[in-house]
Parts: sequence; C-alpha cells; structure tokens
Amino acid sequence: MIVAICTMLIIVVVFSTTQSKAADKKPTHHVGLHDRLLDFTDVRVIDNDMKVPLDDIAKVLYLPVEQENNSIYIRKRGIEISYSYITRQTAKDGVPISWSPIVNVGGELFISVKYIAREIGFKTEYLQKLKTLRIYRDDYTHMSHADYEKKLHQLLDEKKPVITQVNPTKKSPVNVYLTFDDGPNQFTTINNKILKKYNIQGSFFFLGKHMKNNESIVKEVFDAGHYIGTHSMTHDKNKVYKSPKSFIDEMNEGTKLILQMTGQDAKLLRVPYGSKPHVTPDMQKLLTSNNYKMWDWDVDPADWKYTDKQADKITQNVRDGVEKAYKSGDRDIIILLHDRSQTTKALPQIIEWLQQEGYTIKTYEPTQHIIRNFLNDTEL
Ligand SMILES: [Zn+2]
Repeated sequence: MIVAICTMLIIVVVFSTTQSKAADKKPTHHVGLHDRLLDFTDVRVIDNDMKVPLDDIAKVLYLPVEQENNSIYIRKRGIEISYSYITRQTAKDGVPISWSPIVNVGGELFISVKYIAREIGFKTEYLQKLKTLRIYRDDYTHMSHADYEKKLHQLLDEKKPVITQVNPTKKSPVNVYLTFDDGPNQFTTINNKILKKYNIQGSFFFLGKHMKNNESIVKEVFDAGHYIGTHSMTHDKNKVYKSPKSFIDEMNEGTKLILQMTGQDAKLLRVPYGSKPHVTPDMQKLLTSNNYKMWDWDVDPADWKYTDKQADKITQNVRDGVEKAYKSGDRDIIILLHDRSQTTKALPQIIEWLQQEGYTIKTYEPTQHIIRNFLNDTEL
C-alpha cells in the first residue's frame, strides 16, 4: 500500500514538473551565482520573496533532493530541510518554519532562493536596479558587486537599466513611486509611452472589468517592466465593501486575472477610494491571511477632477504634495495618479520636475516591500 502511494506520488511530481514550466514568459527577476547569471526561466516572486523551481536550483547548487513517503528531504552541510506534501510545511531539522520557504505551485515545488542559499553557507546580495539576487561565497573568487552589476547591464541589455536620478541634489536617495489607478484603457497606453520615453517605471493598479477587454494593454505594461496590481474588479463601493467575502473575492479575482495575463502573482493591491474608512478589521484580516500587501498613498493631486486645460494644476499639486512629504521626512513617496486624459498631459512635467529635484523614480519592488497604508497596519 505504502509503496503504491509513493510510486503514485513520484509519478505525480515528475509529471507535473514537466508540465507547468512558464517558459514562454520572460522572467522579471534573475538569479546570479558568483560571476554568472543563471539561465532560470521560471523565477517568480511569491509572497514577496524570489522563488525558483527546486529542481532547477538543486542542479546548480548540487542539492541532493530525496523523496521519502509524502515528503522531500534536502540534506547538506549537516542540516536537513524537509517539505511535507500533506501539511505543506517546510521544516529545518524537523522543526517547522513558520513561513514556508518551499511552496507547492500546482504540483511543482518552488523554493526561496535567499533561504536555501543562506542555509547552505552562501551570502546573498540583491541588486535592485537589475532585480537580480546574487548568490556568492567569500571563500570563492568573484568580482565585486559593482563590476558584476556592470556585467549584468550588458547581459540584460534588452531590459534597459533604469537610471532616473538626473540631478543628485538630494543627500540620500529619496524614492518616488508613480502609481496609476483605474486602467487599463487608452490613457494607460499613453502613460506607458511617456514612462518609456523617460526610461522610468511605475506601478499600475488595474480594474478587473477593464482588464478583460484590454489584455494587450496589460501585456504591454507588464513587458515594459512596470508593476501591475489589482484595484478590485468593479470599483463599485457598494459591491466591493458590501461584506468581507465580497471584498476578498474582488481582490482574488483581480489578482487571478493578472496571473493569467502576465504570469505574476501580484500581492500588492490598492483598494478603491483608499483603505480608510472602508476596509473593516475583518477585511484587513482576510488581506493578511491571503498574503496581500496594500498601498494607499502619500500625495493625492486629485488629478481626476481637472480638465486637460488644467493639467498645470495637477503638476502644481504634485510639487506641493511631494515637497510637503519630503519635509516631513518621508523618503519613499507614493503619488496617486489615474489613467486619464488630463494626467497624460501633466505626466511629462511631473517627471521632469521630479528628476530636476533629484528624486529617484521607482517601480514597486515586491522583495523590498514598503508599508504605506492609512490603517497603519504593519502586516500589510
Ligand atoms: Zn480608483
């Protein structure tokens, strides 16, 4: 009986690992080992952490992976890491780990790169600009991080490096995040083109109801390296906030669409109308238990209420808001914008002003999450 179950399990595992490779999608994140760039085709950000198929990294790091009953075991350098298919829990030397460095994605096991590297004696360095996690050991000759980064720039040439600090007048970097709500629509395409012109990346919070009719725009935005998160399915206050269930359903459905269209498990979302006072404690708990993160914003220029001719007013509001946030000590300033006509008119002026002032314009980086919500919930 046990033998039969094991055989079945092995068949299931082998079968599913060969089936579920997302090889057709270009990875947004990369893994380096010493001076090499690993050719992993399926690097995912799951729960704000970079994970790769266990089989792939096992080959590269020479990890012996053994299958026993309903678990797998990795035994190396005197430690034992195990994963149970039954409890879906990872354990180290038999002690369960509260977060799970190993996750089961449709039958395929993915493991946290940072976790496994550190457990077996490697160091890690995250090269943010190139979204690359470098694994290395100091007892093994390797180039400096700066030289490695230069080499990566060449290797990843088609993904142009994002250098945005034109005028470094700020003593330490002050990050600004341009976020665009309510797309995708025709103005999303224009905003995307403008961001491309300035070689910068933003973050888009899309509505499920619009994504369904605009899949090509979703792909366009994703391919340009911007972050895409959900902004609910309907944006309808009476539907989204009707009950904790309707709330989480709207978020799950939107996130699922993003996953289907881009291959990304987008855990950062923005709720319609901001979290306060709409998100109740029960809804808050559901966000956490579903591993979501939630952004509100620091600067709201109320772009939605102006006409195209009043675009200057939007820029002025951004300037006032950003300066105020900077003076209050904020070093990660999130600006709320929308995919609307008047915003596309203001966007070039906004970007040019931010760059002149020495702000660094960035996209959301799931592996370096910043907490910013009106509920002051540190879990989100
Ligand atoms: Zn909205």
